[in-house]
Amino acid sequence: MERYPRRHFLRQMGVGVGASAVASVPQLPGLTAPHVSKKLNVALCGLGRYAGYLAEGLAVSNYCQLAGLVSGTPAKLEQWQKRYTIAPKNCYSYQDFDNIATNKDIDVVYVVVPNGLHKDLTIRAAKAGKHVIVEKPMAVSVAECEAMIAACKAAGVQLAVGYRLHYEPYHQELKRLGQQKVFGQVRLIEVSLGYHLDGIPPTDWHLKKALSGGGPLMNLGVYCVQSSRYVLGEEPIAVTAQFGPVQHKDLYREVEESVTWQLEFPSGAIATSTSANNMSVDRFYAAADTGFFELSPAVSYGPFRGRTSAGELTFPDINQQAAQLDGIGQVLLANQPLPNHIAGVEGLKDLRVIEAIYQAARTGQRVRLTG
Ligand code: NDP
Repeated sequence: MERYPRRHFLRQMGVGVGASAVASVPQLPGLTAPHVSKKLNVALCGLGRYAGYLAEGLAVSNYCQLAGLVSGTPAKLEQWQKRYTIAPKNCYSYQDFDNIATNKDIDVVYVVVPNGLHKDLTIRAAKAGKHVIVEKPMAVSVAECEAMIAACKAAGVQLAVGYRLHYEPYHQELKRLGQQKVFGQVRLIEVSLGYHLDGIPPTDWHLKKALSGGGPLMNLGVYCVQSSRYVLGEEPIAVTAQFGPVQHKDLYREVEESVTWQLEFPSGAIATSTSANNMSVDRFYAAADTGFFELSPAVSYGPFRGRTSAGELTFPDINQQAAQLDGIGQVLLANQPLPNHIAGVEGLKDLRVIEAIYQAARTGQRVRLTG
């Protein structure tokens, strides 16, 4: 059997292989920098592909630094420990992870494991008294998101979701153009994300429902749901959806290979999206009353390209992970509540829509969303 090329796989997963320019992160308005001499100490939990990108972001972050590691693979733990000069007392397996409660050198646990494991590790980190950043999708169901939010609240710690695009200048501009109605009311959003994953190993966790929660909708579509919601500044009221035909029946036994959906919003705006593992697409387009705005690539790690009906969009290509860590780090260091757009409640709202999309695709019915 042909070996699957790792660089190809990384690229297809939306993980760029080159280093991005480092973000210059401005002080967030309304926040003082009380701990200029102290950075937030972050433990990465799960040392896989994306943790590597977060480690690069942490290395150049102004407000956070890598201080701890949690892994189920002893050899990896040893390699990372050496590479990033992490004290052995700050390294944990999943078995002894709860001991992190007595480790004053760790402020935050960043959960970067398969989606189906987010809930348990988030709750364990919260019970250990640590703030938590959890990767997208926040969990695999609304019920899990609610349990995570409740556990963090009970423990008096904050919960953030790793939504890197909230700190990315092109996306901040999309949000401004849509929410401030710069080209009038947005009527239509077309946003899709897909990668050709033909060579994905059949054992990969993305194909196992218990670990992934679903196929490309969970992994990629969450960005489409997110950006539709934040560009409009509204919550969808109804969903229709269709699963695409399965091309690789041997691989897609437990999760979908592709899905297309339509969201209806209170303003009358429609968002239509596809997320897929059998096509390449990375595009955002919004049609408003007096103009349009678009990005392509739109969701990967950039560099992004965009324009509006009034001209080109030009922003710096940043290190998205560093920018996200700095944004969250500033708030936690200032002991302020995280803004809703990055807090657990945002991940919960996306899971509500994702569950409705699956229900609509399964039943062929239009699913109404309330609350
Ligand atoms: P990987 O498969 O590369 O890494 C996941 C890591 O989780 C593994 O290396 C392993 O680390 C740990 N793990 C623990 N239990 C299991 C298990 N049963 N099966 C497999 N791995 C296990 O995945 P990614 O890094 O790509 O994804 C991790 C999370 O990050 C996902 O939630 C994903 O959606 C998210 N992500 C976010 C991105 C973004 O742009 N924001 C981009 C890519 C992913 P160890 O051996 O150290 O225990």
